[in-house]
Amino acid sequence: MGKLIVVIQCDDVTKRCSGFACMNDFYERAGAFANYDSDTRYMSMTCGGCCGNFITAKFEHLTKKLAKINFDKQDVIVHLASCICSDSAHKQPCPFMHRMQNILERKGYAVKLGSHISKKAQAKREAGEYKSWN
Ligand code: SF4
Ligand code: SF4
Repeated sequence: MGKLIVVIQCDDVTKRCSGFACMNDFYERAGAFANYDSDTRYMSMTCGGCCGNFITAKFEHLTKKLAKINFDKQDVIVHLASCICSDSAHKQPCPFMHRMQNILERKGYAVKLGSHISKKAQAKREAGEYKSWN
């Protein structure tokens, strides 16, 4: 069985964004998703809202569901979406990003920062107008 990619979107941003660009990058194997094998699965969810506490319950639930299908959580890679990690047209970076990362890592999940890279946002990052996520 291949890997499972879970993209976590900012709950606030999902009022404005369907998540299409993240999903499309995954299926096009672009940017942050370029190196995943063809049998990799994809799912997305929101953080559940500030201050990211619902991540705990959501990943308790996911862990149980994965165990039921004998899917090893070592094969899960969680991406905190770019709208969480970086300035964007929607908002500033999430002040709880590292807290959520810590919750997920303590639960045994691998976490990567970033997902879809908007060309406009990247240009603003390179110009110093937007902060980079590191
Ligand atoms: S916790 Fe962060 S990612 Fe979640 S809604 Fe609030 S700002 Fe967005
Ligand atoms: S990174 Fe962009 S496309 Fe992905 S969920 Fe956030 S705003 Fe939407």
